[in-house]
Amino acid sequence: MSITGSCLCGNVTFAYSGDMADAAYCHCTDCRKTTGSAFNISIGLAADGFEITKGTPKTYTKTADSGQAITRHFCADCGAPLYTSSPAYPERIYIKAGALDDPGVVKPTYQSYTRSRVTWSKIDDDLPGFETDRAEGL
Ligand SMILES: [Zn+2]
Ligand SMILES: [Zn+2]
Repeated sequence: MSITGSCLCGNVTFAYSGDMADAAYCHCTDCRKTTGSAFNISIGLAADGFEITKGTPKTYTKTADSGQAITRHFCADCGAPLYTSSPAYPERIYIKAGALDDPGVVKPTYQSYTRSRVTWSKIDDDLPGFETDRAEGL
């Protein structure tokens, strides 16, 4: 499988070729803080098939709830999160699903840290929906 992706501003791009492991939701507090949203969705990739094709992501390392050091790689210009890595699992990286150019390849198969899940992580089917922005504004 070959995939490509980028940050929001396009200053950092990446490419991957190889097998894709499971995609998963993560409800942990760190994922909520780093995405600024209810949860993160990431996909495990083989580190040796992954390359940054443009730019240089900035990194931030913090010990996660799991007790492992997690390094978060993001664009220093637009702030978009791109992927995580850990010295405990050097053969793997975890790419942010929303950074992919074709997010249709993502099929999450489980969710982690449900003990930290916020009630608003599930979108109520009865909420009014708009194909684009809600016209009348806030
Ligand atoms: Zn950027
Ligand atoms: Zn998480």
